[in-house]
Amino acid sequence: NLDIRVNKLPNDEVGSLGAAINDLAAETNQYRANRSELFANISHELRTPISYLKGYANVLKNNLYETEEERRQYLIIIEDESDHILRLINDLFDLSKMEEGKIDLQMEAVDIVEIMETVVLKIGIELEKKGLRLVTEIDEDIPFIEVDGNRLEQIFINLLTNAIRYTEKGSIFLKVRSKKNNVYVTIEDTGMGIPKEELPLIFERFHRVEKSRSRELGGTGLGLAIVKNLVEIQHGTISVSSEVNRGTKFELSFPKVE
Ligand code: ADP
Repeated sequence: NLDIRVNKLPNDEVGSLGAAINDLAAETNQYRANRSELFANISHELRTPISYLKGYANVLKNNLYETEEERRQYLIIIEDESDHILRLINDLFDLSKMEEGKIDLQMEAVDIVEIMETVVLKIGIELEKKGLRLVTEIDEDIPFIEVDGNRLEQIFINLLTNAIRYTEKGSIFLKVRSKKNNVYVTIEDTGMGIPKEELPLIFERFHRVEKSRSRELGGTGLGLAIVKNLVEIQHGTISVSSEVNRGTKFELSFPKVE
């Protein structure tokens, strides 16, 4: 009889055994809840673009269009939605590798200024399209940091793409400074901002302040979850502050190479 056996244990042991079993059960339940929420999210995220694909494929199959231009528009939608699905799957794959600690990092001494120059070149077109100004302030003699250069680039592309995506007018400020043993980067925009109560949630998978807006602008809702993971596995830190209708600021730090 299990009851009797448990009762024979000294009191504190019974207590800690009970607590351990409760913890395990809670963890398992939490794991199950997280997993089923994740599957629900993924299904939901895939359903929308796939229903567009199906709908427009049907329109084309049945010749339900009037002009050649209209037909072309439908094909463009099919192409865009396919891109969205691919982006989503790539992001999910990346994130799951990170969360399992199975991501290969090529850590080496990296010149962050050089990475910034590449990033600025890459986002130039998007900036120009929206008529936004990029103001950079990069101190002299920034020390090298020990990171994976490609993954560092991915972090900044993600943050700057968001800054552009959620800013209608004004500027984006990019600063790189060094102090003591760290290199600090801030990326600040003059965009729509994030409400205070949402701030602690934005690094979670699929959390968006405005779902439809993010989707319309091509977002998968996974960008910041990936960024936070990437920063932390490279021994950096990231924090965010924001004011609605004023703008958002992300601050990052990485330890310099010893
Ligand atoms: P998404 O693909 O939707 O942009 P992210 O994970 O990159 O997903 O960001 C999560 C949410 O955080 C976004 O949907 C948006 O609501 C908010 N967000 C991120 N960056 C900014 C920013 N610079 N300004 C305002 N809101 C932002």
